[in-house]
Amino acid sequence: MKYVLAIDQGTTSTRAIVFDKRGQEVASAQQEFGQIYPRPAWVEHSPQDILGSALAVTIEAIVRAGATARDIAAIGITNQRETTLVWDKVTGKPVYNAIVWQCRRTADFCEKLKKDGFAEKIYNKTGLVPDAYFSATKIKWILDNVGGARERAERGELAFGTVDTFLLWQLSRGKIFATDYTNASRTMLFNIHKLKWDAELLRLFDIPSSMLPEVYPSSHNYGCTDAGLFGAEVPICGVVGDQQAALYGQLCVSAGDVKNTYGTGCFLLMNTGDKAVKSCNGLVTTLGATAGGKPCYVLEGSVFVGGAAVQWLRDELKIISSAAESEKIALSVKDNGGVYLVPAFTGLGAPYWDSSARGVITGITRGTTRAHIVRATLEGIAYEVCDLVRAMEKDAEIKISKLAVDGGASKNKFLMQFQSDILNCSVIRPKVSETTALGAAYLAGLKAGYWQNEEEIRLNVRIDGEFNPTMQDDERRELLDGWASAVNKTLA
Ligand code: ADP
Repeated sequence: MKYVLAIDQGTTSTRAIVFDKRGQEVASAQQEFGQIYPRPAWVEHSPQDILGSALAVTIEAIVRAGATARDIAAIGITNQRETTLVWDKVTGKPVYNAIVWQCRRTADFCEKLKKDGFAEKIYNKTGLVPDAYFSATKIKWILDNVGGARERAERGELAFGTVDTFLLWQLSRGKIFATDYTNASRTMLFNIHKLKWDAELLRLFDIPSSMLPEVYPSSHNYGCTDAGLFGAEVPICGVVGDQQAALYGQLCVSAGDVKNTYGTGCFLLMNTGDKAVKSCNGLVTTLGATAGGKPCYVLEGSVFVGGAAVQWLRDELKIISSAAESEKIALSVKDNGGVYLVPAFTGLGAPYWDSSARGVITGITRGTTRAHIVRATLEGIAYEVCDLVRAMEKDAEIKISKLAVDGGASKNKFLMQFQSDILNCSVIRPKVSETTALGAAYLAGLKAGYWQNEEEIRLNVRIDGEFNPTMQDDERRELLDGWASAVNKTLA
């Protein structure tokens, strides 16, 4: 077998990438699809778009690789997490659109859960803070609001799945009804300590257990795609949520390994091995992928506005013409000129958790130029990530020595050097930037025997950029003080 193929079903597009033995991209295809906004703060996807784009890009990527389905040793699926679908077990027909992780329609119910004192119980079982992001309240909403859905669910006729489960079902024409630990851990229905669906939470959310898929390791032979779809049966041997896929794709497989993805927002994940670390700083505890039968535990934190702050410079302030240009402009001044920008455009997440916080720019003088504002914006992203890293280190009682990075804004050399300086640790960017797809491919290929073990995979790692701290301690301290006082103004 020549290749492994990853399907990366994301929030705005679906991608398929064909990888070879060396973990290099041989061919890829991508299709964007529409976002459905039925009301403010509601977000849905058409299930047909999810499936149609997955089928189309898979076929296109295989063709572009000059291959056929018989050349593919295994498929790995990685997906936008938490997004919720409910469908008929006989016809496979969804009863409603996919409710996307971003959708806030169940926010009031989550507030009520917190008021009624359920937060601690939910956290102790699932590692999650009750929030509309996670699947549980979205399933409940469908059962409560779609005509006849609850009765059908109670008769055992309906299935629930996150996007991975929906794709497994559809690609196998109803033969596979399964998910993996990492996706299950984002539903708010899964006990991450017992590795089981939780009966008490199912009662709390009024969800019949017959709706739930079987849960398996991320690296597992789930079954084959229907032969009619790609010209031959292909085994699906990897299933993993997108952030955990990136963590694995970065080969952060040991306790203390950390990766950060600099996309629209930032996602920081730390592997904590076989220990579920409780957070005192508002991070969530979740399950990560391993090549074995047991998942690992992960601490996860996110920054709401990461690369989006650079988009704001480009699209709203219009002081840069492209995101990439921010690097050159930031480097055109020798320092921030005393300017700090806290991009708390939609509130501040961990470790501050203040949803009413809003962005601020401090320290503006007559000498402040656009270059200072651009530089302060990039530095602001790095400080936010630094705050998360420090919170994680405290919770896990682990001091990190290097940060693996990926995502669009990790291309920015100024940002990466500053990140290294402010964290006082190495920042390492791999050559294959599609770490999410790569992680799913590795997990699938290991199970299929395409790769023998993690050591073989590790030989594939090629570094694209390594950044090491050059900043003096007192300068770092001074900058961090400046940031802390800017954040205080945000909170005030
Ligand atoms: P997502 O997967 O969230 O859509 P990507 O990983 O594609 O995000 O990254 C896109 C984000 O990265 C955008 O917000 C963009 O502003 C930012 N970005 C892209 N290139 C650069 C760059 N060279 N410097 C700074 N930010 C960048």
